[in-house]
Amino acid sequence: MKLIDSYGRKINYLRLSVTDRCNMRCRYCVPVEGVSKLHRRDILSYDQLYRIARTAVDIGIEKIRITGGEPLVRKGLSGFIARLSGMQGLKQLVLTTNGLHLEEMADELKSAGVQRLNISLDSLKGEVFSKITRGGYLSRVLSGIAAAEKAGFPIKINMVVMRGVNDAEVVDFTSLAIRKPYTIRFIEYMPAIKEKNWQSLIVPCQEILTRIGNRYNCTPISRSELAGPAREYLIDGGIGKIGVISPVSGHFCGNCNRIRVTSTGVAKGCLFSSEETDLKPFLGVKCTSSLLEALRGIVTSKPDMHQITACHADHAPFDMASVGG
Ligand code: SAM
Repeated sequence: MKLIDSYGRKINYLRLSVTDRCNMRCRYCVPVEGVSKLHRRDILSYDQLYRIARTAVDIGIEKIRITGGEPLVRKGLSGFIARLSGMQGLKQLVLTTNGLHLEEMADELKSAGVQRLNISLDSLKGEVFSKITRGGYLSRVLSGIAAAEKAGFPIKINMVVMRGVNDAEVVDFTSLAIRKPYTIRFIEYMPAIKEKNWQSLIVPCQEILTRIGNRYNCTPISRSELAGPAREYLIDGGIGKIGVISPVSGHFCGNCNRIRVTSTGVAKGCLFSSEETDLKPFLGVKCTSSLLEALRGIVTSKPDMHQITACHADHAPFDMASVGG
């Protein structure tokens, strides 16, 4: 079954957040004053999350990404993933993590059925990393990445590039993809929380590619149907790949194939749209058809594109951890 939105886009990808809690407080994700935690009773149970995932797959979703907050801080995650991984019709089950708990959890996530990991890593320098994440330990994340590689995961590393913060490391990250079989993806900073002078932090992807191209020869790779928004490249002499994701300078909205559901059961068709539907009223055993219609409604009301530009954003600030970035 195909799920097509009002602009003819095939929607086949659900980002499912299992928690708003996170063990880092990245400066681009959470405002400096912090955010109040949601009450536990508002967070969906695994049964409720499963019901949403099942219904989404029934109407055409083929790929689910488990996200958060930090998904690995929620107890019982591997059991939930094992249930999802047996779901008929689901072609890809992947997870995004900051890697802090990966060293101890990589093997169990692999056995549970996670097919691929995206790991956030914004600096290879301990001090810079600690500043960006407001206290995260780089060595633990690096051990987590090594454990994930050992467990047999294909690994994607996401770096949010910020001018004057970590952009000087773009070439260092690229050389990681020369030595390791990783896909390193450079993501343009998005003004989700609208921190002061956010415009100055954005490094357009074209500039990132130029800096890399001055050092390495890169060849574009064609995009698969279930792929995310990255444009990916092989690098001469490398065993890994690089990719760029340009949510601001090069809207990829025309290719957007995703919807999101937060850990409290709020469905969104676009990160920057205020349009959302609370799925909680539709999670009872007898509500299958109304849940199905609510999810279809989110797809139908997906906007054609977001309105963020490199100098202007008129959305209400939000923290990615609670929306499920
Ligand atoms: N805790 C997990 C992690 O760190 O990957 C999952 C949640 S995190 C919100 C998901 C992704 O959103 C991360 O790759 C993070 O870098 C990205 N992200 C969050 N805020 C962002 C922003 N303002 N601009 C660009 N990417 C952002």
